[in-house]
Amino acid sequence: MTPSSVLTLHYSLFTVFHMSELSELYQQVILDHNKKPRNFRKLETANHSAEGFNPLCGDQLTVYLNLEDGAVKEISFEGSGCAISKAAASMMTQAVKGKSKQEAEQLFKEFHGMVTGELDEETTSNGLGNLKIFSGVREFPVRVKCASLPWHTMHAALNNQEIVSTE
Ligand code: ZN
Repeated sequence: MTPSSVLTLHYSLFTVFHMSELSELYQQVILDHNKKPRNFRKLETANHSAEGFNPLCGDQLTVYLNLEDGAVKEISFEGSGCAISKAAASMMTQAVKGKSKQEAEQLFKEFHGMVTGELDEETTSNGLGNLKIFSGVREFPVRVKCASLPWHTMHAALNNQEIVSTE
């Protein structure tokens, strides 16, 4: 990564979160996943896939998954977008891999509820775990779409919808 792209990344994160709104640790996790996204590749064995677009920010990705016996055996993504969308996609693939379709759909509901403010992740039992670092985006409506796009796209892939848009 060139020094100027590091600067741009820090600048874009700074405009999303003020230091008091997202701890430095959480920023580090998001920066790390943006820089080294997990499961970032085309999945040759995929039997489901979907494309997602967020025209407001320019995020776009394809989610590939291999669903076998009702479970997500493998999942990956490709695409480009802001740090939030890329980190959210990376962490989504880690969270969903190995889960049953129902568990993946439940996690989608919980994540969506958290970032839209419909679910209080601190008082309602949920399986979000480290995905809670994205709770801060609910203060920023534009960023809610960045964080939820990978989840909408995963949901679409599970349900054989091919293209989703947040608009
Ligand atoms: Zn974005």
